[in-house]
Amino acid sequence: MQKGFISMQSENMFPIIKKFLYSDNEIFLRELVSNAIDATKKIQTLSSIGKATGELGDLTVEIKIDEQNKTLTISDKGIGMTGEEVEKYINNVAFSGASEFLEKYKGVDENSLIGHFGLGFYSAFMVANKVEIITKSYLPDAISVKWCCEGNTEYTLEETNKENRGTDIILYISEDNLDFLQEDRILDILYKYCKFLPVPICFGNEKQWQQQEGENKDVQVEVPRIINETHPIWKLSPSELKQEDYSQFYEKLYPHSFEKPLFNIHINIDYPFNLTGILYFPKLKQDATFQKKKIQLYCNQVYITDHTEGIVPEFLTLLEGVIDSPDIPLNVSRSYLQSDNNVKKISGYITKKVADKLEEMFNHDREDFQTKWETIQIFMEYGILSDEKFYERAKKFYLFKNINGNYYTIEEYQQHIQTLQKDKDDNLVFLYTTNPEEQYSQIEAAKEKGYDVLLLNGMFDIHFINLLEQKLEKTKFVRVDSDVIDKLVEKGDTFVSKLTESEQNELKTIFENAINKEKFMVIFENLSETDFPVTITHSEFMRRWSDMQKITGNSAMFGANFEKSNLVVNTNHPVMEKIIHENEEDKRSLLVSQLIDLSLLSRQMLTGEPLAAFIKRSLDILK
Ligand code: ADP
Repeated sequence: MQKGFISMQSENMFPIIKKFLYSDNEIFLRELVSNAIDATKKIQTLSSIGKATGELGDLTVEIKIDEQNKTLTISDKGIGMTGEEVEKYINNVAFSGASEFLEKYKGVDENSLIGHFGLGFYSAFMVANKVEIITKSYLPDAISVKWCCEGNTEYTLEETNKENRGTDIILYISEDNLDFLQEDRILDILYKYCKFLPVPICFGNEKQWQQQEGENKDVQVEVPRIINETHPIWKLSPSELKQEDYSQFYEKLYPHSFEKPLFNIHINIDYPFNLTGILYFPKLKQDATFQKKKIQLYCNQVYITDHTEGIVPEFLTLLEGVIDSPDIPLNVSRSYLQSDNNVKKISGYITKKVADKLEEMFNHDREDFQTKWETIQIFMEYGILSDEKFYERAKKFYLFKNINGNYYTIEEYQQHIQTLQKDKDDNLVFLYTTNPEEQYSQIEAAKEKGYDVLLLNGMFDIHFINLLEQKLEKTKFVRVDSDVIDKLVEKGDTFVSKLTESEQNELKTIFENAINKEKFMVIFENLSETDFPVTITHSEFMRRWSDMQKITGNSAMFGANFEKSNLVVNTNHPVMEKIIHENEEDKRSLLVSQLIDLSLLSRQMLTGEPLAAFIKRSLDILK
């Protein structure tokens, strides 16, 4: 037997492995299974080029728990190692010294430490106090060897008699990690990291219903449980796949999900970097908080993480599915990731691919695109808000929906309202409602004037219209209940007031005395006789400002409530003359109160005691 010292510059590696990598210790299994897969792929390659002779046989990687001996074994039938190779690959740990290591990577996520230092195999010591490697090389006449190490820098290496080619890694699980001897725990880890590895992985047995020969009923049998699907569809060419394949794959990725995705994008590129994957668009609801089925990131079919921030553009994290790239440097810190050029290119490419897909859907079948608009809108607005480049693409097929349910691109809509909806500065005015129920009477009033009203009730709409106002020239967004709507250029003549100046002054005092001046400002407008006598409006600017503050939770910024409403009195409504010529004080104040309350009522602003008083007053009139 040969004894020796594992050569590294620091003796302190094992405590580091144990201590600093502890929180995510389950990844030892990912590392060991990945090594087993690599070894298997190597023998396949050697065989395919004639460098390894003979039948390869079954190549399944096997994982076994031995509860009695407290071991977990990972066995492969890959290329194996000779004694010299064990010395070379296992004993010489490329390691730059513990202190330097810690200094340099303080606070770095544990996941990233491992591969970076080629510690894949040594991560076994996170959960085991002794590890054995029993291995036999594929080379003819190779002598099998057994390596053993107890979590310090000493090892032993001796000949052994393993019959078949390949490697067994035997972990003697330490007392505080006994959960790794539980079948369920191992199964969970394998399903998490190894579900799509390219070589079959077997762990334990499972029950299956099978039809036995000569019998006409199914019987339950125990069969080896295969964990993984070796050819996940993202690795296949889109031309080989049907829509059904994508749907089935979605279910594999997210078992037990009720909602089906709306559509998907297959990414398949090998130049200038290698990137494959399938992204699904889930059904998004305007008011719902975001679902959290995350995009899964793989590196050569090994699951790495579902924290894709920094790799996938933020707005694309609304999507679901998988991305696989060997070119994403996974073993570095997040901040480094974000500045990495490859990552930037990949992220830009995904954005482009998504824009391509949406544009193609829009051009190819606009009807269908419109039926999916609710989801696409949230996604596009988020994208437009967060990514300048995406806006440049998306502005061609972003759709506005008006309250009649018609859809327009931005350009189409500009054409649509061109002749009618302009303000005195010649700005196009996009009228919109955020709540058709609440703003019903204002919408009706706008319609009566022949205006078109857009439905903008999405979660990003407030930010979105601010952005569009910057991007689109001479365009303003005005909510339908806002104070400028009446100032839009009318088709016909503008109206002049029928009241004399002294009558107007009298009227103003009457209304001002009837309202709370802290909350309302009386404004006179010379509208048509058929317009409402009294309406409530808000300043578009102030309202939007206050909405933004609510969203950002920043309402303390100015301390004050900006929402002072306008009480717009239409001097041309016949009731105004009636008020002026009414000599009885009581009757006059009744008229004014009713008018004000009706306008409040139509804005859902009349509640509690004033509402009860209004109802009583109305009933009295009926008596
Ligand atoms: P890495 O996989 O990043 O190179 P590891 O510490 O995991 O680092 O492994 C070091 C080397 O040991 C591998 O590159 C490989 O040559 C060898 N090795 C590890 N596991 C196996 C295995 N199951 N079969 C054959 N060789 C292996």
